[in-house]
Amino acid sequence: CGIVGYIGEQQVPEILLKGLEKLEYRGYDSAGIAVAQETAADVYKEKGRIATLREAVDQTAAGTAGVGHTRWATHGAPSKTNAHPHQSTSGRFTLVHNGVIENFEELKAEYLPETALVSETDTEIIVQLMEHLAGELGDIPAAFRKTLSLLKGSYAIALLDSEDQDTIYVGKNKSPLLVGLAQDGNVVASDSMAMLHVTKEFVELMDQEAVIVTRDALTITNLEGEAVQRDSFIAELDE
Ligand code: GLU
Repeated sequence: CGIVGYIGEQQVPEILLKGLEKLEYRGYDSAGIAVAQETAADVYKEKGRIATLREAVDQTAAGTAGVGHTRWATHGAPSKTNAHPHQSTSGRFTLVHNGVIENFEELKAEYLPETALVSETDTEIIVQLMEHLAGELGDIPAAFRKTLSLLKGSYAIALLDSEDQDTIYVGKNKSPLLVGLAQDGNVVASDSMAMLHVTKEFVELMDQEAVIVTRDALTITNLEGEAVQRDSFIAELDE
C-alpha cells in the first residue's frame, strides 16, 4: 500500500522505517525493507506493525541504498513470506510493488515455467522476470523496460540490483509514485508525505516510464528508452 526508497550518503534503514511509519495511516497487513548489499540485498519483513519490523531489523543493518514497503494483500494471505520485498532466485534483484499484476499467471507460464516461486503473490513474478530478462538481454535498463512493458495491471515498483548498488530502478502504471531530490541523495515514495524528512523537492512520474535513480541523478525514459525531461516541484506540506 506504500513504497519508500532512498539512495545517497545517509544510512538507509532508519530513513526507510521512518517513511513507512508515515504511511501507516493508510492501512497495511505487513511491511518490509531491503538494504542493498553485494550478492543479495538484506531483506527484513514481518507480518503486522512497523514496530514489529523495526524490532526485526538487525541493529547492525547498514547501507546507503534501499527500498521499503507496506503491503495490503491482494494475492496471497498476509504473511512474512508474502510480504515484500521479494527477491529473485539468485538473490541479485530485490523488488517492492504496490498494485495488482493481472497477467502474472500468463507471464509465469510463458517466460518462467521452470521457476519455483517462494510466495503466493502476483508480485514475485516481476522480480523473477527481471532476472530472466537481465540474463537474456545483458543490458539492465533494457531488461527493466522490457519487464515493465510485459506487465498488465497496476503497479508502482522500486527495484534493487545487487551488482549495481548505485541504482534504484522505478516505474509506475495507474499507481502513485514520485522521486524526490535531496542534497545528500535521492528518494522514491508513493506519497511525498512519506519522505518529507529527507526532502520537499519531488518529480512526478507518468505511467509507463522507466526511471533510473542514482545518488546524484535521475533519468526518465519511456519504455522505448527515449529520454523524457520533467521539472521538479516543491511539496507544500507540513512534515
Ligand atoms: N498485489 C501485491 C500483493 O498482494 C501488492 C499489494 C499492495 O499493493 O500492497 O502482494
